[in-house]
Amino acid sequence: MDADLERLIRLQQIDSAAEAARRRIADHPSLVRSLDARLASATAALDDARAKLTDNQAARRAVEKDLAAIQSRLSKFKDQLMEVKTNKEYTAMQKEIEAAQNEVRRLEDLILERMLRHDELAGAQKAAEDRLAADKAAIAAERTQIEEETARLEREVAQAASARARLVTEISPGVLSTYETVRERRGTAVVEIRSGYCTACHVRIRPQVANELRRNEIIYQCDSCRRILYFPPLGPASAEEPAGAGR
Ligand SMILES: [Zn+2]
Repeated sequence: MDADLERLIRLQQIDSAAEAARRRIADHPSLVRSLDARLASATAALDDARAKLTDNQAARRAVEKDLAAIQSRLSKFKDQLMEVKTNKEYTAMQKEIEAAQNEVRRLEDLILERMLRHDELAGAQKAAEDRLAADKAAIAAERTQIEEETARLEREVAQAASARARLVTEISPGVLSTYETVRERRGTAVVEIRSGYCTACHVRIRPQVANELRRNEIIYQCDSCRRILYFPPLGPASAEEPAGAGR
């Protein structure tokens, strides 16, 4: 294989790996934002559950206050009942008492409803607390994972940069310049030929040219996309060292 072509293939591998690492790093802020949003929503759910419980307690206290007032009115009515002089007054007072007793029953029912609702809301608050605690732990773990991955990817990008700096000094300036120009325009500059086609733009390479390229002895750019083409090594076995060699 042509020495420059071999180095360009390696350079492309380095650049592609670095680019993938950079893209992954660039995704991290949005991953962190979605974790923040998840935490905020679990916190809001707990705040909401607490507010509902507090509201229910306040509503129950208000009904209890009304009940106390009506009960004291009722006992006053009963005292007054002893003092009425006429049948007409007596009947009127009886009606007042009856109405007050109905109101007492209604308020007692309301209090019972609020007590049942309390149990329901206390359960919901407990569930929201548990969920928030679980989310906090999961989110902290994911955050750590993202931070570790960022650090690892940044190391990879730095290693790629130094490997690249070494490698480019070994490539002929003209060839390197072709590579950089194509990479700038196309993102990827070196691609394989497979089944006679450029694997990037899918244009067919003329059979005569493809035949010439088979030994990877020349730097050849695709007629259509200008990417530098090469034939991949035949099968994975060719890349492997013989078993036990040098050990
Ligand atoms: Zn092409």
